[in-house]
Amino acid sequence: MAEYDVVIVGSGILGLSTAYHVKSVHPDADILVIDKLSAAGEGNTARSAAAFRCIFSSRTNYALADSSVEFYRHLQEDLGVDLKLQWLGYLWLLTEKDYGEISAIFRDLALKSDLKYIEYEGKELTRRLCVRIDLKKDEEAQSMGLDDVFGGILIPKAGVINDVSSLVNFYETEFLRLGGKIQYGIEAKSLIAEPRQPLGMPGEPYFWQATRVAGVSTDKGVIKAKKTILAAGAWVSQILDRVGVECYIKPRKRQFFAIPAKSGELQELLYTKGFNPVGCLPFTILPRLRVYIRPFSKEGTYWVGYADDFPRAFKLEEDPQPEKSFYEYGIYQVLTKYFPQFENVRASSAFAGLYEVNSLDGHPVIFEENDLMVVGGASGSGITKADAIGRIAEALYSGKEYACFYGDKKFKVSDLGLKKRYVEPEKLVL
Ligand SMILES: Cc1cc2nc3c(=O)[nH]c(=O)nc-3n(C[C@H](O)[C@H](O)[C@H](O)COP(=O)(O)OP(=O)(O)OC[C@H]3O[C@@H](n4cnc5c(N)ncnc54)[C@H](O)[C@@H]3O)c2cc1C
Repeated sequence: MAEYDVVIVGSGILGLSTAYHVKSVHPDADILVIDKLSAAGEGNTARSAAAFRCIFSSRTNYALADSSVEFYRHLQEDLGVDLKLQWLGYLWLLTEKDYGEISAIFRDLALKSDLKYIEYEGKELTRRLCVRIDLKKDEEAQSMGLDDVFGGILIPKAGVINDVSSLVNFYETEFLRLGGKIQYGIEAKSLIAEPRQPLGMPGEPYFWQATRVAGVSTDKGVIKAKKTILAAGAWVSQILDRVGVECYIKPRKRQFFAIPAKSGELQELLYTKGFNPVGCLPFTILPRLRVYIRPFSKEGTYWVGYADDFPRAFKLEEDPQPEKSFYEYGIYQVLTKYFPQFENVRASSAFAGLYEVNSLDGHPVIFEENDLMVVGGASGSGITKADAIGRIAEALYSGKEYACFYGDKKFKVSDLGLKKRYVEPEKLVL
């Protein structure tokens, strides 16, 4: 039976970025990507809001996001790859307490890097966006624990990819052009565990034998490989649990609701000028709870969402469905307190997907044991960080201590492993 150098399970954005970077550095390696779906990026990559930002509070996340965003800019602006990037910026609306904490983080990062940000006073935001900043006299808002908007911070190096498949296509096309192979409609059922030195005894491997992962058993037969890379997104722990490998990656439902900008007020808000070159509302994050608004300027629509935690279950679902009540009794209630423009407006459609949450610290997980590599746990920002994650996976595959990001920054590979993990807590999770 033919043995590949590498088999990668999952053709989402992380599997494809990994495939592309490994193949770029090892052009002679025989690499096969498989996916149970019928095309690339059809898993949770397709269900994402495809928003990106350079900014995170942890050194690690910031390095991953900033270099990936710079790479996407380079592809679009220098190489002419049409990624459909729209530089809308991210606008954080903040309570006084959060403003103090977050502006200190940004100030510190700006001293050490080229981070640019713009600060706005609350009154200025009201003038520009008609946002309600004073909720003290609103009893309902008080009972919901909603605080006043003290000010806002805009991060210009951020925005949305208007069609995430353009980024998926880039990695897929380049990987194939380099001679990589992809097969869709193949489901990996289990990992193949084999002794490093088979003795030909029935029932191998025995516990006293050094054992490795030698590929995957699929619904279409066995695929042998020298290295198996699992980039199966929210499904990764389902596969790893069967061989008792812990990865701390859990699936959690996330939902978006589409609101058409039909009224004059919603049109005005959507096409707000002065924040970005597009002439559109930035991706906007409301105070404290962090309900977010993702504008679609061409379609005349908003998507609104919220990343809820406790008591939302970790649950693997093939086709998670949005919950009407999550909008009506949740997001709508918070949204309309700050932006009355959304009052009496129903969601015209909705969708849901799964975050692949790293339950340890919200950072990606990239490690290897027994010829098995795991690349995942992007925790809701896999599009934003995909390029850097693919480069770290390449460095791990190549046995390098440091990965080299776009822009030549070095990153210690073991920082995102499990044994010598080294990350700071992240304060800007969405
Ligand atoms: C609602 C929502 C909004 C989001 N918004 C953003 C955002 O604005 N910005 C951002 O950066 N990120 C966002 N994300 C997160 C982002 O989508 C993910 O981090 C990213 O897509 C993860 O990529 P992946 O390759 O790990 O997973 P996936 O894209 O899910 O890819 C995994 C692939 O593995 C395949 N697979 C699984 N099991 C098997 C098997 N046994 N055999 C074969 N194939 C298998 C699946 O079919 C799938 O194609 C969002 C996610 C959701 C759900």
